[in-house]
Amino acid sequence: MTPGVRPLVAGNWKMNGLSANLSEVKAMREAVDAGKAGEAELAVCPPATLLAQAAWALRGGKLSLGAQDCHAKESGAYTGDIAAPMLKDAGAAYVIVGHSERRQYHSETDEQVKAKAEAALKAGLTAIVCVGETRAEREAGKAIEVVSRQIRGSLPAAGAFETVVVAYEPVWAIGTGLTPTAADVAEVHAVIRKLLGELYGAAGAKLRILYGGSVKPANAKELLGLDNVDGALVGGASLKAVDFLAIAATYA
Ligand code: PEP
Repeated sequence: MTPGVRPLVAGNWKMNGLSANLSEVKAMREAVDAGKAGEAELAVCPPATLLAQAAWALRGGKLSLGAQDCHAKESGAYTGDIAAPMLKDAGAAYVIVGHSERRQYHSETDEQVKAKAEAALKAGLTAIVCVGETRAEREAGKAIEVVSRQIRGSLPAAGAFETVVVAYEPVWAIGTGLTPTAADVAEVHAVIRKLLGELYGAAGAKLRILYGGSVKPANAKELLGLDNVDGALVGGASLKAVDFLAIAATYA
């Protein structure tokens, strides 16, 4: 945790969820609005097809809504893509950019992630910028080097960067049930904090740095209690309100 920084627990539903699953979003909202979800800010990022319905279900409440990706351009001939202002218009407050699944399956580069993050800020969204090393990079002792390069290359240079959120997600920990040691997480987060200071000056000390990768109710306490860990980006365990809320309860 970082003193004076309100943590964020964000759920990434990835390519999961139909209208029927909005019951989980509604259950999350009820807990948040009833003051039963702890002190952290909570956000849920369903697939784009559910954004408008989710926004309607969350209207007037305290559970934030996010999207999972955006295009770097404001509009244009980009069939199938979604622009940041469209996400804002649909009711999103957050957008995840540079998730490792986008970097891996859509060959997104740091430069493209940075452009998306800047587009998000311009549209009035908070960008959750993801970074993280692969298993091979970790085993080669290059985790810090890779994450540092991604931070320098992917974070926005323009816009309201004081709202930016960074998510450190080791690729090998995502969806695998594996997690780094507490010492490894703390080491990477400390490096990210230092780099945020270099990039953004004093504002960098207050930006939220989330940990992501197989966060579950059982390991949340240890991971989220570490220095410079200001919340979590949660995949699989965010699909069910009961699990997501159990993770958020770490901040009770
Ligand atoms: C993610 O996709 O951002 C993630 C952290 O997934 P999981 O929690 O399932 O490992």
